[in-house]
Amino acid sequence: MASLDPPPEPAPPSWNHRFYAAGFQAIVGLAAHRWLAPLARGRGIVLAFHHVRPWRKEAFTPNRFLEITPAFLEEILDALDGEGFEVVPLSDVPGRLAAPRTGRPFAALTFDDGYRDVIEHAWPILARRGVPWAMFVTGDFADGRGRLWWRELELAVARLDGIAPEASGLETWLDTCGPAAKARAYRVLYGAMMRGTEDALLDRTRRLAEAAGVDVAGIVPTLCADWDELRRLAADPSVTFGSHTLSHAILAKRGTAEARTEIAESRKAIADRLGRPVDHIAYPLGGPREAGPREFSMARDSGYAIGLTTRPGHVGARHRSAPTALPRVSMNGHHQTGAALLSLLSGVPFVAHDIARAARRAAAPRAGDTGTHRETSTGIGAEAETPWT
Ligand SMILES: [Zn+2]
Repeated sequence: MASLDPPPEPAPPSWNHRFYAAGFQAIVGLAAHRWLAPLARGRGIVLAFHHVRPWRKEAFTPNRFLEITPAFLEEILDALDGEGFEVVPLSDVPGRLAAPRTGRPFAALTFDDGYRDVIEHAWPILARRGVPWAMFVTGDFADGRGRLWWRELELAVARLDGIAPEASGLETWLDTCGPAAKARAYRVLYGAMMRGTEDALLDRTRRLAEAAGVDVAGIVPTLCADWDELRRLAADPSVTFGSHTLSHAILAKRGTAEARTEIAESRKAIADRLGRPVDHIAYPLGGPREAGPREFSMARDSGYAIGLTTRPGHVGARHRSAPTALPRVSMNGHHQTGAALLSLLSGVPFVAHDIARAARRAAAPRAGDTGTHRETSTGIGAEAETPWT
């Protein structure tokens, strides 16, 4: 594998990041990624990406986990090759799960939100290497509207020196002077907003951003590819297109009819605009609180072959019966290291996470705990349901 120069990290990493970074180092230091991989690794892996772009030296970057550099994408592709993975089109995944286990695990590459930087920086790398990949399009973003509200919130907190209770909806004044205070304020605001309705979240974020002088309407057209750019991408047969809903809806917060429209109508709308079939969906944010059994059934009933969550893990034979509820492994911008990569590809962190969760439950069973899958949200960013964020 090529050596990796760690990207500059302008703000000190949080304890959470340090904990997981130390875990990855320990796994590789003990060579556990080698000797436990035969047990921990699934039949394959679906990787989730967002932005791919050169590193920006900024002190306050609460959404940094959503971006990797082009160099790290190369590193990932080298590691997949080196670890014996075969990169396959997403549509091959159900067949791979149905077939007897072969020697090589599979990997599918997925990119959410339709960012222009993926076309600019990732597409040339992926095309040069001849690997298939999938772009998950949000209809409103390609239309130049819709709301990248986590970016609005980031810009608002970056510009404001403090946020009054009447602006935040919280009981106390939020200090936003300096990177550390801004990071804390972002976490508090994000957590509070995610507990409310989506309408309230969008309304509150817009008002905060506008109070900070942010050009809210300019964010999506600046960052997201439009239909013309996506159609140029559609000329590449190595690229599969999927739905990321019409409006990037937090589906579990929507009523049944609205959620069904977001899931079903986006399939047809994106296929019509691109002239390509849309047979897969990635649920926005994708954690247990944002997409669950209701959404998985709706996706199946709408004819999707595959539905992707951000619940972390490898894909195994147990997912054969639940193709619209597949886990993914998010490529996290806070952990662009060879150790993180080798650990994640081995599957060891997910087994360790499951064991730790089972141990916690055994030690302190909760009344009414049905044993269904529930993650502990880190609450520090959109699509942040990875345990190592
Ligand atoms: Zn998304």
